[in-house]
Amino acid sequence: MSNPLPAAGNVVPLRRSTARVGDAPAAAAPNAANALPVEENDSNAAAPPTSQEREQQRRRAWMRECAVIAASYAQNGVFIGLFALTGTVSWAAGALYALPGLVVSAVIAYLIKSGWSARLKDSSMSCVHSMASAVLCLLGVALFPQMAFAYALMLFTVFITATYRNPKRQVQVMLAIVSLLFAGLTLGLGRRLQIPHGSSAEQFLTWLFFVATLGRCVMLSVINVQNNRLLRDRGQQMAATLAQIERLANHDELTGVLNRRRLLQILAEEMAHTDRSGTPVSVALFDLDHFKTVNDTLGHLSGDQVLKHFAAAVQAQARTTDRFGRYGGEEFLLILTGADLAQAEQAVERTRQALAQVDWSSVAPGLRITFSAGIANYREKESAELLLGRADLGLYSAKHAGRNCTRAA
Ligand code: GH3
Ligand code: MG
Ligand code: MG
Repeated sequence: MSNPLPAAGNVVPLRRSTARVGDAPAAAAPNAANALPVEENDSNAAAPPTSQEREQQRRRAWMRECAVIAASYAQNGVFIGLFALTGTVSWAAGALYALPGLVVSAVIAYLIKSGWSARLKDSSMSCVHSMASAVLCLLGVALFPQMAFAYALMLFTVFITATYRNPKRQVQVMLAIVSLLFAGLTLGLGRRLQIPHGSSAEQFLTWLFFVATLGRCVMLSVINVQNNRLLRDRGQQMAATLAQIERLANHDELTGVLNRRRLLQILAEEMAHTDRSGTPVSVALFDLDHFKTVNDTLGHLSGDQVLKHFAAAVQAQARTTDRFGRYGGEEFLLILTGADLAQAEQAVERTRQALAQVDWSSVAPGLRITFSAGIANYREKESAELLLGRADLGLYSAKHAGRNCTRAA
């Protein structure tokens, strides 16, 4: 009875991925109005960006954040200005909040654009920006306590934004400073701290400001969740790409089994393990018999098919602890961990029997494939070259003994 050919392609499927190596996760979500979506990955781009291009991209993203924060200052300034309509504060209140905010944003954007901020640990200057926003809110409370409620609400947005953009430690320090300053203001201003509520117009504006701030906080959280999802997806893409690179680096392209480089690494590890533990390790070098004839009579493509199916057949019946791969051309290496010479010989003969059962008719009717093998057991402190050289000697003897057999050396 003959077995169908094992699925050669199943040994190690080499998946194609569109992810680019070096795709860096985008910066975390910025502020209120300040929230910016993470840029989509352009998987069609020909080459990954250089580190200089990536730096430019990062700077552009930070400058966009500055622009959004500036817009947020202007928006809040207008909102505060509306309270001037109700007589709660003077018109100057809005300007006193918005103008310094706009100047701070512009200066930070300039320092980022010019590259000056690159010398700082926090090159995005996001912490300075957040702290400046918090100080403006506190100044608002100090100067216009009659609408302290509005400035306190703005502090919420500042902190939510800082939580998303800045390192945890910086946010904790900022929280401590703002808490202390706010305590001072509360003690100093006492009953003067107020929620504007004297007239219907003030009540309406207070309600509107509250709802707008709440909406802003919700929007920020939603954007942050989306960005986190995008970052997680990118992380998964990156992991898949790395896994593929590793597969490509360690596996033979044609047969999908381990390549010579990886086999030699594993062998070195196994030999070191044997030196430490005394557990035996043996190697078996396989060479297909009269393979040139297969190529000559059936063509190179059929020869390739034979190599694929041979590799899959051996891999399918090898013990999980044994490592098998293509050593070169039509030569394969099996590393038998924990096996002495007799056990290695038994394993190779099991492989021979399994191969004899394979039905090669899908490659060519009546085709029969056999192999010769040389086996060697590792001797303490022996080099890999010597060990493999002995296996090669065994293989040479097997060929001379008429092929389709195993010899030890
Ligand atoms: P022997 O029994 O003495 O081993 O005879 P042989 O014909 O197998 O001789 P040898 O081992 O020297 O032949 C190796 C052949 O394997 C020659 C080379 O063309 C072929 N070969 C090596 N790599 C590949 C490959 O990737 N694909 C194909 N189709 N053939 C390959
Ligand atoms: Mg050969
Ligand atoms: Mg051969």
